Amino acid sequence: MSWDQEEVNESRERVQREINKRRARGEALTPLEVPQKSRKLSQTFWGQAWCRNLESYQHYETRLPRGRSYLRNGKVLDLTIEPGTLSAVVAGGELYDTLIHIQPLKLEDWQEIVKASQGQVNSLLDLLTGKLGDGLMQILTDPESGLFPKPKEIRFDCSCPDHADLCKHASAVLYGVGVLLDTRPELLFTLRGVDQADLLASAGAASAAGLAETESELAGTDLSALFGIDLAE
Ligand SMILES: [Zn+2]
Repeated sequence: MSWDQEEVNESRERVQREINKRRARGEALTPLEVPQKSRKLSQTFWGQAWCRNLESYQHYETRLPRGRSYLRNGKVLDLTIEPGTLSAVVAGGELYDTLIHIQPLKLEDWQEIVKASQGQVNSLLDLLTGKLGDGLMQILTDPESGLFPKPKEIRFDCSCPDHADLCKHASAVLYGVGVLLDTRPELLFTLRGVDQADLLASAGAASAAGLAETESELAGTDLSALFGIDLAE
């Protein structure tokens, strides 16, 4: 065994011991599962749109590939999306606590989006699965005025010693969001602090019950079948 390999094994064992210790203290530390068979991290409209947008941030470019491989290797644990915050534990050379602060969408920007989408979203299911007209899709995914955060609205806070703007752990977490949006696309709206029901054609008719219904519908839906051609590209 080479010296390098020995060092890698030691660090892996150290990380595993740390995981066991924290689990014993009650943390779940559940790895975010990534589809292994597909070359694409995300399979659905919102997940893919999130990843595409991420990759358009030029000054993140050099850090993103390492984050991708961390995520693929199951190193992103307990990823949580809350209004304005992403948090996870990332298993690198050690266990790192990674927090990402994302400014909520400004109210006036959200109102613009709502106005521009008026009458174009027929149901929450259509919205969450991305069954939207091209014009509306452009509005929602516009890098300047759409739903995704801009780099200047994102602040990283990782417990690792890397002081770069974006460390590989934070970049793994950002990619993790793309994966999580595959099964829970509504979390994009949660993250930006807005209510997706505002976009419905009959805004006001939507309720928490409506979302619960949509979620159970989503769970039973083969999302990739809904997209067909879009996903096959
Ligand atoms: Zn880090």
